[in-house]
Amino acid sequence: VCLAAALAASGCAQLLGQGRDTSGPGERARDYLRAQPYTSVLVELDYVDGSAPEDRAVSLLQSRLNQATGKAIEVVKTGGVAGMGAGHRYTLGEVVDLEGKFRGQSTGGTQAVLYVLYVDGGFERDTNEAKTLAAAYRGSSVVLFKGSIREASCTSNCLNLPVGNTKPPIAEVEESVVVHEAGHILGLVNNGIPMQSPHEDTDPDHGRHHSSDQGSVMYWAVETSVVGSILGQTPPDDFDANDKADLQAARA
Ligand SMILES: [Zn+2]
Repeated sequence: VCLAAALAASGCAQLLGQGRDTSGPGERARDYLRAQPYTSVLVELDYVDGSAPEDRAVSLLQSRLNQATGKAIEVVKTGGVAGMGAGHRYTLGEVVDLEGKFRGQSTGGTQAVLYVLYVDGGFERDTNEAKTLAAAYRGSSVVLFKGSIREASCTSNCLNLPVGNTKPPIAEVEESVVVHEAGHILGLVNNGIPMQSPHEDTDPDHGRHHSSDQGSVMYWAVETSVVGSILGQTPPDDFDANDKADLQAARA
């Protein structure tokens, strides 16, 4: 989900205007992709205790960012974010407030920073049918809703699921969704960097800035709780050839 419009609509834009980064997702893509002025990337990853990221998701994010940008990627992980409980549905304003309180690093000098926040609950827009697993909400910020990621995943005994249960293991879901949100920050799809050939999903039910390719990590279902029922137990966790062509062109 790309929430630039939502920010403005909810009044967060004003909140953000007080000396903070007001850019929308994708607007800072070139900070990460261009060789200059930022020669390295720091991922600041803050989490509510008990909702830490899966190690595999952190490793994959690091490697996908390295492949996309050609830069060294450093990750710093810190717990202690004041969460509101696994049953809480966070508003965008609450997410922005948490970032304001807990984010320590911003882009500057020779380093671009990506802020990744893990909270324990879900999102205000969630319905019983579909929950948002994560969202890119500013030019350098994404949030993951670990409570909803858990619900969309198999957390134990994943090889012995009852017939008809297609929930992927939690590490699979999280690898895919964290790379997907990073993709929005990097300008995909048609979200700040130009498409080299048309590959944006034009179905209005699928949200904006997604790939039409079910084999791309930028496919819309990756960031929703229906991920398993649509994409099965191993959702895509890499950019496809069209995504990669866009990223490569934007680096030049
Ligand atoms: Zn998305």
